[in-house]
Amino acid sequence: MSGVDPRLLSAHFIDGRWHPAEAEIEVISPSTGLPLGAIPRADAAVVDAAVRAARAALARSNWGGIAPRARLKALHAWADLIEAEAETLAWLEAVCSSRPLHQARAGDVRVTAEQIRFFAEFADKEGGALVPTADTAFGYIEDAPYGVIGAITPWNFPISMAGWKLAPALAAGNAVVLKPSEMTPWSTLYIAELSVRAGLPEGLVNVVLGDGPMTGAALMAHPGVDKVSFTGSTRAGAAIMENIARSGIKPMTLELGGKSPMVVFADTDLDLAADCLARGILPNAGQFCVAGSRLLVEDSIAEPLAARLRDRFRAETPVETLAGRDGLSPIISAAQMGRIHGIVTAAQERGAEILCGGAPFERAGSFYQPTLLAGVAADNPAVTEEIFGPVATFQTFHGEEEAMALAAHPTYGLAAGLFTRDLSRALRLTRRLEAGTVWVNRYGRSQDHILPTGGWKASGLGKDLGREAYLANRRSKSVLIGL
Ligand code: NAD
Repeated sequence: MSGVDPRLLSAHFIDGRWHPAEAEIEVISPSTGLPLGAIPRADAAVVDAAVRAARAALARSNWGGIAPRARLKALHAWADLIEAEAETLAWLEAVCSSRPLHQARAGDVRVTAEQIRFFAEFADKEGGALVPTADTAFGYIEDAPYGVIGAITPWNFPISMAGWKLAPALAAGNAVVLKPSEMTPWSTLYIAELSVRAGLPEGLVNVVLGDGPMTGAALMAHPGVDKVSFTGSTRAGAAIMENIARSGIKPMTLELGGKSPMVVFADTDLDLAADCLARGILPNAGQFCVAGSRLLVEDSIAEPLAARLRDRFRAETPVETLAGRDGLSPIISAAQMGRIHGIVTAAQERGAEILCGGAPFERAGSFYQPTLLAGVAADNPAVTEEIFGPVATFQTFHGEEEAMALAAHPTYGLAAGLFTRDLSRALRLTRRLEAGTVWVNRYGRSQDHILPTGGWKASGLGKDLGREAYLANRRSKSVLIGL
């Protein structure tokens, strides 16, 4: 671990300082299966210290009350430093996660800096309104930061998920206590330290390390946390809702799981569709929330499309994240790979046909063969459950009605893809798809941070990115003055 301060490996970052503690949770490289180090598990007292530090920092610095342009400038300085430290950050990102080093350097780290700049610009441009009232009164809407945001992030894109939470919260005048995933804590810790080096007030960005049941739960339930922002599984999101309902109501943004369909009509460009379908499930080994894991294909093109996909899937070779070249990413843990394989074999036992893949690669680390499952009934768990791996189901349909019936998931509604050259059909069906995001003749986010992201139904509550995410970090007050 040369070139990186070893304190990073085993310390919370609270009030602008490192707080080393006994290391309890091992961090494993998914590329090799070897242990990399260990991190502490914050208990309620540590979480309490972090929340108090955040509140004290707000009071001391008046972060929410200073000239908005001063917040904007400070955040730009932080983004500059993140870019300057891209090499170290990319390494910290890649070493313990599924993110390839070169992609982290050119993509994830740069995108995180861009997100900070994007949200910084709202600070002095957004807010408040005069409202029409009878001339006996003067009415306006004032908005204000919440105070302390308690944030929790998943392991699949550690630094950019931290950016999704930190950037709008800080631009909007809040302080943050963030718990990253226990599997991928280091890039988040390092950007927290960089915030202080860039001149942000100490205590504005705090990172507590630990697992969900102890540290995450203590953070969500803390009475000093004014709002909660969570990204992770629907299961954990539900546990957090329950926890908050018991411990004291507070507003929350929840970005949760999905099982997104990609609907391909026969009139589409087959090469484009094959390319998008492959890029909708293979990057990061399918470990991204909007993965297009349910392929719904019009029956007349099923054969040629399946053949193209089989070729693409079979061509993927495992590549360790530090190797510096493109390839199939590892599955985040051996346990998660076991879960993926369990769903695939159970699907097979229930009649699914494996068109390709279907097993782990025989090598060190956790790498799973890209897998295409055909002949799956609509109630097969491979079709209904989020797998979070390079596994897609392949179902066929005949006509729009059957396509829409198959596309509708009983609980999830995160994203959907639609492939057709018929513009009227695209517009008609986009309206019918129950999803927070629909991509037509492409699949996946662009770098347009203005487009909010978030799920419908059990895929979430509220939005990250976009103006919505900035506004979600402020609360409004209606004022009426009798004249
Ligand atoms: P996870 O739910 O297991 O863990 C996410 C985070 O929550 C971790 O930091 C974990 O420690 C914490 N956590 C777990 N249980 C908790 C609890 N009871 N209380 C408080 N915190 C708790 O998810 P994961 O495996 O890290 O990430 C994958 C999941 O995240 C997938 O379901 C994926 O779809 C989802 N995700 C969603 C989006 C989105 O924008 N909708 C983006 C990325 C990932």
